[in-house]
Amino acid sequence: MAVRPLVGIVAAAGSGKRLGAQGPKAFVPCGGRPLLDWSLEALRSVCDRVVVAVPSGLAEPPDRVPGGATRSESVLAALRAAPEAEVCVVHDVARPLVTVALIERCVEAVERGFDGALAAAPIIDTVKQVEPDGGVVQTLDRSSLWAVQTPQAFRANVLRRALAVGPDVLAAATDDASLVEAAGGSVTIIDAPPENIKVTRAIDLAAVEGVLRSRGVGYEPA
Ligand code: C5P
Repeated sequence: MAVRPLVGIVAAAGSGKRLGAQGPKAFVPCGGRPLLDWSLEALRSVCDRVVVAVPSGLAEPPDRVPGGATRSESVLAALRAAPEAEVCVVHDVARPLVTVALIERCVEAVERGFDGALAAAPIIDTVKQVEPDGGVVQTLDRSSLWAVQTPQAFRANVLRRALAVGPDVLAAATDDASLVEAAGGSVTIIDAPPENIKVTRAIDLAAVEGVLRSRGVGYEPA
């Protein structure tokens, strides 16, 4: 990786309510370790430093900072704690199977000149636009639709400018790239491996543990 410092940012301040967990999602056991550890391990092998936004009571500065009320505010808090960053890689703690290769491919695309590069997968289901009452409006052409994931790599200054918007805009953003796009930045997608799944519900955690078991690497039963 040519551009330094390269800082990893983990959004890990979510509550984990949909997972039905006792505590924050970041610390739910997964393959015998806290969920957060898997993302940290991958990011640390690529980045100069990793800053994590955690629930406020669990902050340990300088590298574990209190997150905000929304995901974007958590990313902003972590980015503010890394003023040295030239390039940053934002990652959700909810995707513990992220690979070093995927992180590197995102960073390399930024080094080639894009403002942002995002892990993504082509949509495989048929997608319909639906009214609140369930009525179908139309079927969308899925051939050009991609489901966007993390990691997402950015020129740090472009992300800083994109995040300099009001709390309502931050709250409405479900990823960082949409803010960069709205600010006129150039963004590309990076085809992600199918196992880069998101842990939202208990069944997702079981799927992740299944993949870890099949990899047979670092897995110790809880
Ligand atoms: O809620 P959602 O699944 O979109 O959350 C995506 C990521 O954002 C999760 O990794 C979660 O921990 C993080 N998050 C955060 N701060 C919040 C809300 C969510 O860091 N206030």
